[in-house]
Amino acid sequence: MLKQLYLSTKAILRGHYTVLKHLFRKPVTEEYPEIHPFLNPKFRGVHVLENCKGCGYCKRVCPSNAITIIKDDSLPSRYSIDYSKCIFCGNCMYYCPSKSMKMTEAFEVATSNKLDLSYDVENRRM
Ligand code: SF4
Ligand code: SF4
Repeated sequence: MLKQLYLSTKAILRGHYTVLKHLFRKPVTEEYPEIHPFLNPKFRGVHVLENCKGCGYCKRVCPSNAITIIKDDSLPSRYSIDYSKCIFCGNCMYYCPSKSMKMTEAFEVATSNKLDLSYDVENRRM
């Protein structure tokens, strides 16, 4: 009985000590979305395309088969990425021979409709 009381009191004091220890520390959580989070320079977010030649290497190295390229003559008329499949591994960017694929800091693609996650990526001509 006495031992039980001792253990309970010890546990309660330890719990209070932990709370007090963290009470005046800087929080580790961020006020997202009010404050935009700090992103690592190597962060891989939503894709952008510049001067894509439509060679299809990116599609071949994509481990989740998320890329669809429809070609018109030799250039892509439509380039889309399905973000319900994409795992943001960056293979498409790293293996693009003409460095046409870039990944941005944009990451807010969440939606309640899975079909909305298939994005047409504009192929910008520079
Ligand atoms: S993004 Fe790069 S690898 Fe993919 S089709 Fe375009 S040029 Fe080829
Ligand atoms: S980031 Fe990876 S998974 Fe996403 S489209 Fe590129 S290769 Fe595929």
